[in-house]
Amino acid sequence: MISRIAFGLMRFPAALVALLVIGAALFGISTRPVGYLAQVWPANALLLGLLVRHPGFARLSSWLSAVLAFIAADLLTGSSFDKALWLTAANVAGVFAGWLAFQRMPERVLNLTEPASCLYLLAGAVVASLAAGIVGMWVAEPLLQVPMLEGLVFWFATELVNYLVILPVMLSRDLAAAVGRARAGLFRIRRSDLMPVGTVLISMAIATLVGGPGAIAFPVPGILWCALRYGVTTTAVLTAVVCLWQMTAATSMLGLAATDAVFASISARLGIALFSLAPLTVASTNASRERLIAELRQSLSRDALTTTMARSAFLEQAQDLMRAGGRLALLVVDIDHFKTINDTHGHQAGDLVLRSFGECLMRQVRPGDLVGRLGGEEFGILLRDVDAAGAGRVAERMRKAVEELQVTAGDERIRITISVGLARFEDGYTLPTLLDHADQALYAAKRAGRDRVFSYRHSA
Ligand code: GH3
Ligand code: MG
Ligand code: MG
Repeated sequence: MISRIAFGLMRFPAALVALLVIGAALFGISTRPVGYLAQVWPANALLLGLLVRHPGFARLSSWLSAVLAFIAADLLTGSSFDKALWLTAANVAGVFAGWLAFQRMPERVLNLTEPASCLYLLAGAVVASLAAGIVGMWVAEPLLQVPMLEGLVFWFATELVNYLVILPVMLSRDLAAAVGRARAGLFRIRRSDLMPVGTVLISMAIATLVGGPGAIAFPVPGILWCALRYGVTTTAVLTAVVCLWQMTAATSMLGLAATDAVFASISARLGIALFSLAPLTVASTNASRERLIAELRQSLSRDALTTTMARSAFLEQAQDLMRAGGRLALLVVDIDHFKTINDTHGHQAGDLVLRSFGECLMRQVRPGDLVGRLGGEEFGILLRDVDAAGAGRVAERMRKAVEELQVTAGDERIRITISVGLARFEDGYTLPTLLDHADQALYAAKRAGRDRVFSYRHSA
């Protein structure tokens, strides 16, 4: 229901922007101490995140509606018109400058899955916060009762912490995917998965009990553990939770009511802003490393020439399927007189033949079946859920398909034939047994004249 409303609103950017800004601004104003800037001011970061994530939203109508919404929120809560105008000018200037900065950044770093992502994020947030501060400092004296320069720094620190806490949640790409997975019940949470987040909660509780300026750093080990354990999105959300706690509950622990409250606030907000970058840096670096490992694993499990499975991956997965049991059959396929093809047409042409041959094999099987290169011009095919007759039909179809295959190398057309050995899996067979049976059948097919399919029982 809610997602349907949100989806519908996506078609009216200006209305969505207005609702978002009013809602977030009213919430922010409710946390604004008298004569101060709000503790938590999510409106600017939410607006910037929305515009960066949905570039189509950044049109004149959206900007105008944001301006009106900011002014309306301030007027609704009793601000004078002058004050509402200045605050709006600072807010919109910051979002606009941030938007310009993020426009110049490559998409892949904005997903927060590159080691450099956090630097870009920080740069964008600094630009936005500075712009807001530069506009805001002109009213620092009347609004905040602080000198202009102090007003600039205070404004900057407040904006920075809000951007750095909220933007990552909006930018990390897998938020929608994570919600979808959770809905589909695909998250299987084990107890050990809860340890990192549990550590964060416990450390926040202990921090509240102990108090003092150091308490703000208590959740650091827990949140870094989360960053290593969970994905970027979850880390961004948890970091936001910790930072919001630091910005609200923890302010009392820091003694911000002390004499130099403005300085203490600036220090705390800058500290929290920079704190938020640590888990994000760890999570995004980890994400990029995991992606590399996945690519490496993928390339190791594939044969580089034919893109069928590599021998080791094939044997490993065949073993897993045999362990699970079921009606399985193994084909061992070998190209006839392949050496002659190499000798006649050259090794490169031989490679070309192997590649087309591999593709041809993969086209002949169903999605769950395995096709792997066992070595040279010999391939293994593990068929799932077939009886003897079915496996025989697949093998025969394959033989015919290969017979019809024509590989063009230069101005020559190369044709090949194959011999196939077929063995059926029976309970209690090991993989070496099954391979041995198929090999024996293949050898028999070769002896009988090649270009044919033999089943193990024929040769036994
Ligand atoms: P048979 O019908 O008995 O199988 O004869 P054959 O010539 O196919 O068998 P043999 O085992 O004598 O030769 C296999 C040839 O496959 C020899 C080897 O050079 C060639 N070969 C193995 N791997 C590759 C490869 O990656 N590329 C090319 N071009 N040739 C390869
Ligand atoms: Mg051969
Ligand atoms: Mg061979």
